[in-house]
Amino acid sequence: MVRHPPYDTIMPFPDNPKERMEFTAADLWSKVLEAASARLPEQTFHTWLAGTVATGLTDSELMVEAPSDFHVEWLEDKYGALLTDLLEQTIGRRLTLKVQCGDQAPPLEVPSLEVAPPDLVPSAPSGGGVMPSPSLNERYSFDRFVVGDNVELATAACHAVAGKLARMYNPLFLYGGVGLGKTHLMHAIGNEIRANTPSSRIAYLPTEQFTNDLVTAIQNGTTAEFRRTYRQIDLLLVDDVQFLQGKERTQEEFFHTFNALYDAKKQIVLTSDRPPKELPGLEERLISRFEWGLVADITQPDYETRIAILRKKAADDDLTLDNDVIDFIARFCTSSVRELEGAVIKLLAYSSLTNQEISVQLARRALQATFGYEAHSAARSLSAERIRSVVANHWNVREEALSSKRRTKDLTVPRQVAMYLIKDLLDYSLVQTGQLFGGRDHSTVIHSIRKVEETMANDASFRRSVEAVRDELMRPA
Ligand code: ADP
Ligand code: MG
Repeated sequence: MVRHPPYDTIMPFPDNPKERMEFTAADLWSKVLEAASARLPEQTFHTWLAGTVATGLTDSELMVEAPSDFHVEWLEDKYGALLTDLLEQTIGRRLTLKVQCGDQAPPLEVPSLEVAPPDLVPSAPSGGGVMPSPSLNERYSFDRFVVGDNVELATAACHAVAGKLARMYNPLFLYGGVGLGKTHLMHAIGNEIRANTPSSRIAYLPTEQFTNDLVTAIQNGTTAEFRRTYRQIDLLLVDDVQFLQGKERTQEEFFHTFNALYDAKKQIVLTSDRPPKELPGLEERLISRFEWGLVADITQPDYETRIAILRKKAADDDLTLDNDVIDFIARFCTSSVRELEGAVIKLLAYSSLTNQEISVQLARRALQATFGYEAHSAARSLSAERIRSVVANHWNVREEALSSKRRTKDLTVPRQVAMYLIKDLLDYSLVQTGQLFGGRDHSTVIHSIRKVEETMANDASFRRSVEAVRDELMRPA
């Protein structure tokens, strides 16, 4: 018998006659679901998969229906790969899983009126207070935030917003890379408002939480309540809105929440890892709203700011860290404040585990041994030749000239810097270092290193040049 797709049954393991057995779409999907339920947390399974129904099967495709577009999106996005793998394991070959929104899926449960709304949906704030979890972190205050050039505008804007809700910049949109202080600043606004006006209704929520709450509300038929809750807030802090991308239903709901709050003159603060215009998969109308107020960026802290942050952390947490150790960490960790914090924690742990006093040597070992592959490999692949060449390049001189006997100023400065960096980054001995520069003796090397240290202490622009070279050398290739 010749069959044309769509077949309603399919042979698993077609190459293995022993396994011959026919599956219907429903059989197959129920096996996949069974396997998925063993892999996924119960709540996840219940939320996303329990309401799906298999509706068709061809030689190359299994069709499944889910109760809403939102489910479709989520299933494809988050669980598509897992489900396709499980499907392959069940049937012995690869099929495409096609999820659609359909009417065959059972309607979403609507709880009877007596049923209390689920915990996940924030209860309507009655007359004030902070909405339930996730709440504000008290450590994330303005007091604990170090204001370098990299966060000057953003911090000023946050202070302004905290001083005059919804009358300065609405929305305030902060963006920047990971671990640079966006969440901290956002909480700082919330903490300040809470301290000054305890009756304010404040909601801090990661974008994922907004999405999850919305899904739960849709499932439970409590969207009206969901809307009411979110639209009664005085200060809405939504973290990492880049996660709205591709989630159309969430964007739609967020758009309405945004408008309702904005029209009611309530403050909205948003963070993202990139500016509004560069958010992919975000509706134009949302992007334009995000730009209505002030968009402020946060960049990486420079060397001085990194030092200031480390000093502040040490003081706040009662740690004694010598200046040279702080300096070492600030030079080693250049990408984010979170990295700086991580380095301090690693160093403390390393020192207590190995029972050794904290020193630059220990910090170097601790950070190279434990602080991720990147820093390690950058440090490992570093050679004296590379240091010499990067320095020569930076000062615009030929590398060979650094080893020559010539002592004109255009050569002595980079030569001294290269010696300083080789000694510092590679721990070469003075004699070894001297040999790399045309056999200079160790007293010349000492003199050079001192000279660089002195000049760095007195001349900020020289210090920045040396730091820039050091950063370049420490960056992974
Ligand atoms: P982001 O949200 O941008 O990824 P976070 O706000 O979570 O970054 O910051 C990461 C960590 O660094 C937090 O522990 C935060 O307290 C700290 N931090 C970031 N920037 C600063 C700063 N300027 N001063 C003090 N601590 C900071
Ligand atoms: Mg954050």
